[in-house]
Amino acid sequence: MLKVAKFGGSSVAGAEQFKKVKAIIEADPARRIVVSSAAGKRSSEDHKLTDLLYLCHAHLTYGVSCDDILETILRRFVEIKEALGLSYDVEAELRAYMARLNKDTPVDELVSRGEYFTSRLLAEYLGYTFVDAASSVFFTVEGRIDKERTYEAISAALKANGRILIPGFYGRLPSGKIRVMSRGGSDISGALAAAAADADVYENWTDVSGILMADPRIVKDPAPIAKITYAELRELAFMGASVLHEDSIQPVKEKGIALNIRNTNRPQDPGTMIVDSIEAEGSHERFITGIAGRRNFSILTVQKRNLNANRSLSQALDILDRYKAPVEHITLGLDSFALVLSTGALGEAVYEVIADLKKECAPDDVSVQEGIALVAAVGRKMTSKPGVSGRLFKALGDAGVNIRTIAQGSDELAIIVGVENEQFETAIRVMYDGFAG
Ligand code: ASP
Repeated sequence: MLKVAKFGGSSVAGAEQFKKVKAIIEADPARRIVVSSAAGKRSSEDHKLTDLLYLCHAHLTYGVSCDDILETILRRFVEIKEALGLSYDVEAELRAYMARLNKDTPVDELVSRGEYFTSRLLAEYLGYTFVDAASSVFFTVEGRIDKERTYEAISAALKANGRILIPGFYGRLPSGKIRVMSRGGSDISGALAAAAADADVYENWTDVSGILMADPRIVKDPAPIAKITYAELRELAFMGASVLHEDSIQPVKEKGIALNIRNTNRPQDPGTMIVDSIEAEGSHERFITGIAGRRNFSILTVQKRNLNANRSLSQALDILDRYKAPVEHITLGLDSFALVLSTGALGEAVYEVIADLKKECAPDDVSVQEGIALVAAVGRKMTSKPGVSGRLFKALGDAGVNIRTIAQGSDELAIIVGVENEQFETAIRVMYDGFAG
């Protein structure tokens, strides 16, 4: 059994968090690869080291001293070192680096030092071999991850050392220069390490006990999702849930490795398990895995008698394509069709689109309705079960929610309803209360 444990910024924010990480690592010998972010916020008023480093770079570029910021960063590291009695001379190393800084220091190199120094300290504290991402995570000249080289390097480092710790967020370009990933990129590094080592599980340790079934700002204390498939997660993310970005999980998804989101502050919680497919399921399993939604869509309705006999729909899609307005959903009737689009994406072009539709499709009528919110109930078990959508629509109706449009997500994994923006939160609560509990 091999597990990769990636710890996010809040999990390594200070000495107290380091202790929790150590307890987690020692609780399971399978956790042989650790990937660490840079120290994050210890409280809501605190700063992430990565943010401070970006700020430093901005100062350097404009020729303004960033000594104060660097001292703050240094203090964070020294505090961790002293509180834990570590020997790594982070002060000398960081001071030597600071002395070399100038306005030409590449931003990627500078901001990567957050992960680098946090990981040096954590590796010593855990007794793991530090493996620099500059020698184990590789980019191509175009700036894409060179998976082959990366996988080879990480698995060789694991074989040679048994237990390794790799800083997240950065890697090396063929030129030798450091390159960072997008913000939050340590998730990608963790996924790469898990794929490289063919891990059984990729654990992503953060400060929440998994993905919640609904937005906690709308639903009070929503339950965490115990198990979800990658396809369901994609659907939820598309509908606006703030979950792990798809790119960041691609390496593990590709290899069918399970991803477990866990809470460093509550290691007793099982978190959310994201898997390829779920075969045997107990009857206690919920119909709905999660609920998510987004506001501000427009519904463009085109009426034309006997649609089947003409090309109106494809003409309409061509027109929207010209205005680069992606269509989210289409509903089709005998004498009309309706297109759901993001109001923002359509922008001012809506009037021109309507004019073009009138000219090119010769419709009986065209109308546009703005202020629509889409709410999706996502669940692998939902659509195979007769009567679920009926019950869902009835519950919404009973609560006085006016359904403007209905659509089904890809692979029948979601039922999507369009409601008025003002009824967005009510719709989510009704769905949660009626089906998720
Ligand atoms: N430290 C980086 C950031 O704040 C990367 C990460 O934490 O994943 O974006």
